Amino acid sequence: MRIDLHAHSSASDGTQPPADVVCRAAAAGLDVVALTDHDTTDGWVEAIGALPAGLTLVPGAEVSAVVDDGGRAVGVHMLAYLFHEGDPALAAELHRLRNDRSDRARQMVTLLQELGAPVEWEQVLAEANGAPIGRPHIARVLVATGAVATEDDAFMPDWLADGGRAWAPKHAVEPRHVVALVRAAGGVTVVAHPGARERGRVVSDAVIESLAEAGLDGMEVDHPDHDPATRQRLRAIAADLGLVVTGSSDDHGEGTGHRLGCETTSPAAYQELLERAQLPPVSA
Ligand code: AMP
Ligand code: ZN
Ligand code: FE
Ligand code: FE
Repeated sequence: MRIDLHAHSSASDGTQPPADVVCRAAAAGLDVVALTDHDTTDGWVEAIGALPAGLTLVPGAEVSAVVDDGGRAVGVHMLAYLFHEGDPALAAELHRLRNDRSDRARQMVTLLQELGAPVEWEQVLAEANGAPIGRPHIARVLVATGAVATEDDAFMPDWLADGGRAWAPKHAVEPRHVVALVRAAGGVTVVAHPGARERGRVVSDAVIESLAEAGLDGMEVDHPDHDPATRQRLRAIAADLGLVVTGSSDDHGEGTGHRLGCETTSPAAYQELLERAQLPPVSA
């Protein structure tokens, strides 16, 4: 059984439509794939409608959270799975996160313009095409206009990196609150890529402990941004705290070079998450 529990579509900042993501998942030899777009469940319906025979979909989302870690604001991405989409409290929080992304993207475009970068708000809107706007959308416009050579270059401190010249913070919810909201909506939570050092979003052990106390279900240990030493360290923490260990590609389509299935979750870990969630996954 090949299981990948983290993938994005054009419903957020992935490059491929949800139907294409599930087809590519099947083509990559996966038996299970989770659709985890940033702060939205909008891709679920299309993904379910296009589900190839033999592939199981775990409906999910990657919720933007921020925690005060000893006086420093640290972004934490919370993977949420198998929750009731219509749960009013969770739906309201996701709505708020999406609205704020739009305001924040406008701020970043203004900052870029002040820095002399050739980018128009309309181009960013067209690139996002109705999806919650993320920095990758702005980065793609910067590449298209020739301001930078690659998307990664756009994430340098000169431009959109955390704390960079053209970066603006986004509204985010407390990760412990995400755990509670998702639990109340019948779902389970897994902290995403907590050791992604080069992207400046290492989540401290203290924060992981406090999330575990709040009812966090699992930790994404096998992630393309985690080096072997990081994985080993995180695996030990997860074992200590009784967290389910997952592995996932965090595929964004072309944005990450089509890597569905490059990291996987063990069937036992997957079963454990299913047992903790109220809703079953979806099969064709
Ligand atoms: P945002 O959610 O708008 O803050 O944008 C962050 C997203 O940009 C992450 O989810 C990543 O998928 C993507 N991204 C791509 N390249 C980078 C990078 N070099 N550093 C940080 N984020 C990146
Ligand atoms: Zn993303
Ligand atoms: Fe993430
Ligand atoms: Fe992601």
